[in-house]
Amino acid sequence: MAGPLRLDRSLDLYPTTATPTVPTPAFSGERRVAVAVIGGGYTGLSTALHVAERGAEVALVEAGEPGWGAAGRNGGQVNPGLKHEPDEVERTLGPVHGPRLVQLAGGAPDYLFSLVERHGIDCEADRTATLRAAYRHTDVAALETHVEQWRARGVALELLDAARASAVTGTARYVAASRDPRGGSVNPLSLARGLARAALAKGAAIHGDSRATRIEREGRGWRITTPGGTLRSNVLVLATDGYSDRLWPGLAQSFVPVYSSIIATEPLPDALARTILPAGEVVYESGNVTVYYRRDRANRLLIGGRGRQQDARSPEEFAHLVKYARRLWPALGETRWTHWWNGQFALTPDFYPRLHSPAPNLLIALGYSGRGVALATAMGKELAAAATGMPLAELALPVSPVKPIPMHRFWRVGVAARIALGRLQDRLGR
Ligand SMILES: Cc1cc2nc3c(=O)[nH]c(=O)nc-3n(C[C@H](O)[C@H](O)[C@H](O)COP(=O)(O)OP(=O)(O)OC[C@H]3O[C@@H](n4cnc5c(N)ncnc54)[C@H](O)[C@@H]3O)c2cc1C
Repeated sequence: MAGPLRLDRSLDLYPTTATPTVPTPAFSGERRVAVAVIGGGYTGLSTALHVAERGAEVALVEAGEPGWGAAGRNGGQVNPGLKHEPDEVERTLGPVHGPRLVQLAGGAPDYLFSLVERHGIDCEADRTATLRAAYRHTDVAALETHVEQWRARGVALELLDAARASAVTGTARYVAASRDPRGGSVNPLSLARGLARAALAKGAAIHGDSRATRIEREGRGWRITTPGGTLRSNVLVLATDGYSDRLWPGLAQSFVPVYSSIIATEPLPDALARTILPAGEVVYESGNVTVYYRRDRANRLLIGGRGRQQDARSPEEFAHLVKYARRLWPALGETRWTHWWNGQFALTPDFYPRLHSPAPNLLIALGYSGRGVALATAMGKELAAAATGMPLAELALPVSPVKPIPMHRFWRVGVAARIALGRLQDRLGR
């Protein structure tokens, strides 16, 4: 057992609220499978589930337990789309991949909720809609574009004025908001564990405490070394996102492993809970430094945003989030904040996710840039299709080379500076 990688090591909320851990014994000995997956987040678990559903033999190795990475620590917001609006995605990726990626990302929440239903995954899935809320008049035009472009594609987004935005969020901070009926929420760790359970039920092998320490080409396939033994496969899927290490040259330098921080209150009294997000939507803000929040089923308020770019050490590092929450809802007063934690996700320079295939029979998907709950889950279906024979040209994402970011080692400084600048710009109303 890799002690340091257990989820109960800190003040994370989800290990206390999620469905029980799934038994996933460490990999040992020697085994050959059609498809091997490295990484047990949504990308890897969904890939394993879909490969198993297609009837191929699949084994997944995860360094911690399923959901140890961002999948078990995130905000639990099931949000549709990408950072870029659909017209821009189509312009940037062209007539083949543009519409496919718009469809994949826009339809990802539908796919996630249907998968949850199909496999009976117990993860507090609630389809309550996503709100994108603007507190600056300068962000309203972008919200209008957002609503118009999805409406043009048949999705019933609404633009809410200040009064309606205030009614749905319970704070007077916003000048407008969009409401996207496709979104909602999950208990993220329960989703990861549920995907693991579903994959096991379909015949996949899932091994926790099994860090892949080396991958090598062997004939047309792959040899994956773990502390307990050697796994061999025809196809290898690398699904390590913000926790990617040195398994593939240049991969860890091709994105910025950004930390996001979250805090949660104790369950709020009913009367107070009814004044904050009365209909239970999830919210993210349009600002430069994105703040996101929701209530869980026990009426805890969870609010997240950028924070210190290192593993969480003390509650003081989260004071800015407490302060901001009190600013949004002064009635919170001295409500106790019982949990605080953070995690990393892969942010790409252009905010587009990546699909790489830098060697035959090797697939890598990452870089959901903070929007992976639905998208990474949907991506698993794509990867499974590719791993079992679908030509790469038919996938939603174009295959791109692994491109290390120049001066990558200065990312910490760069992200910290960007956050400071964003905060300042937000304060100046820019
Ligand atoms: C604090 C936070 C809040 C977020 N909030 C939201 C949100 O509300 N909505 C949203 O859509 N997205 C959100 N995200 C992003 C989302 O969680 C990620 O996009 C998503 O989890 C990516 O899934 P993944 O499976 O690709 O990666 P991960 O879930 O990070 O899984 C990668 C796994 O790979 C494993 N691994 C790495 N190296 C190895 C190795 N050598 N051998 C074996 N295993 C290895 C890691 O242990 C890890 O478990 C948030 C992220 C964070 C950190």
